[in-house]
Amino acid sequence: MSDKKAKAKTGSKCPECGKPGVQQFRPFCSKRCADVDLGKWFNEEYTLPGDTEIPDDIGEAEPS
Ligand SMILES: [Zn+2]
Repeated sequence: MSDKKAKAKTGSKCPECGKPGVQQFRPFCSKRCADVDLGKWFNEEYTLPGDTEIPDDIGEAEPS
């Protein structure tokens, strides 16, 4: 009888456009917004204060 409640499961809003987030792309509303946010990360727009050390993936040199 109270199955309608299940619909309000996603209470997060899209950080990009403010629309209700879609479970598949949480917390974003669409893949597009998720990509936009991801792009910001790549552009170092979200650089963390302090040292952001990016592992260089060294240490496993391929023997050839
Ligand atoms: Zn969005």
